[in-house]
Amino acid sequence: MTQPSDAAASLPSGAAFPSASSGPLHDAGAVPPCEGKATGSGQSGSLGRADPAPNRATLAAGAGVSAGGVALGRGVLEGVPKVVLHDHLDGGLRAGTLLELAGEIGHELPASDPGALAEWFVEAASAGSLERYLTTFDHTLAVMQTSAALTRVAREAVIDLAADAVVYAELRFAPELHERRGLGLQQIVDAVLAGIDEGTQEARRQGRTIVAKLLLDAMRQADRSEQIARLVIDNRTRVAGYDIAGPEKGFPVLHHMAAFELLSEASVPVTVHAGESDGLNSIWQAVVKAGARRIGHGVALVEDIAGLGLPGSPAGPWDEDGFDAKPSADGGAQGGAEFAQLGELAHWIRDWGIVLEMCPSSNVQTGAAESISAHPITALKRLGFAVTVNTDNRLMSGTSMTQEFTRLMSEAGWTLGDVRDATVNAAKGAFIHADERDGIVEEVILPAYAAAGQTPLA
Ligand SMILES: [Zn+2]
Repeated sequence: MTQPSDAAASLPSGAAFPSASSGPLHDAGAVPPCEGKATGSGQSGSLGRADPAPNRATLAAGAGVSAGGVALGRGVLEGVPKVVLHDHLDGGLRAGTLLELAGEIGHELPASDPGALAEWFVEAASAGSLERYLTTFDHTLAVMQTSAALTRVAREAVIDLAADAVVYAELRFAPELHERRGLGLQQIVDAVLAGIDEGTQEARRQGRTIVAKLLLDAMRQADRSEQIARLVIDNRTRVAGYDIAGPEKGFPVLHHMAAFELLSEASVPVTVHAGESDGLNSIWQAVVKAGARRIGHGVALVEDIAGLGLPGSPAGPWDEDGFDAKPSADGGAQGGAEFAQLGELAHWIRDWGIVLEMCPSSNVQTGAAESISAHPITALKRLGFAVTVNTDNRLMSGTSMTQEFTRLMSEAGWTLGDVRDATVNAAKGAFIHADERDGIVEEVILPAYAAAGQTPLA
């Protein structure tokens, strides 16, 4: 297939996918959030049953958040099983590890103690632009250029996620950014896979069960996407899928169609960073042209949903009549979602269950969303999109899965049921076989959330 020009393959306005503001609109309808009902057999799940009840002694600790109007401690969130689909290996280093590895090679860092260094990353990554955010990776990438360092970082990432009760994780990184000291692409992948195995075993010794998979990233601004696609295919039994990341504006996925064609022919699932710093057209290209099963971020999807009352969402005709469809102050965007109208692309993504890997803290830092309370994830969830919650870069956002959910509960009105639904969505969107996904949902996630919901509050 020849590489199409940007113009020829860009989102046709008002044609195949009319925008919500100008094209014919369809009533979105109110779709109830997933109730997390058990379906299927779940016969071959590879995870053991998690401890279903969070430690009651911790229930009163931490910030108070709401579980359907009932005060809920952070300890509950720390205990319930979680799934992360979007977590960058080079964005999740422990600050202490970064200091040690930098010391070994003489790389200068902006701070010399772990606490100050961790603070520097969050501050530097909060400049409000994706391009500025990405410059913080200069430091982490600098120390991840040997097999030993890659193995250590991967091992610690798995251990840290498991300690946060993450039961299934997909870690991702771009092998081409780790060749500076002479490692080959396959050596780089081998080193990370060794670390994932070691971390999984160490977590098990600590009493935590986690399944961790690897995705390989190509970079939008580079020309090695086809080579990375072949690397994924060569490691098909050990690498779960493919992603493309990097600066979005000016670097369309259309420049990488040969890679996506190879992946499609080899039945490799693909996710694409899109709709983070660029608009609807970028999401359209990811889904329609690159064949993405999941979208990294996808915040710009609100441009195709009228009447949400959120930044980027076109006004609905009812707004001019003075009808109040704005989000309520305390309930996130629920009010807006009830009256939203979807354009064709939004319908397509919702109706086919294309998973949105949203990263609330990161999205606020890069300016993709104004705040946690105004983040589109809440409205999209109410509308029945397959939203998932992710860390993106734990170091740059000073975050964890527990932290992301805590913020959504305290700032955007989420309940424990919302957390469960997003976790089920993530498990069902995992790049593993359907029976494995069902096993995680039915044997691990649902029993634990049911138990947590029934746990008497202290
Ligand atoms: Zn990302």
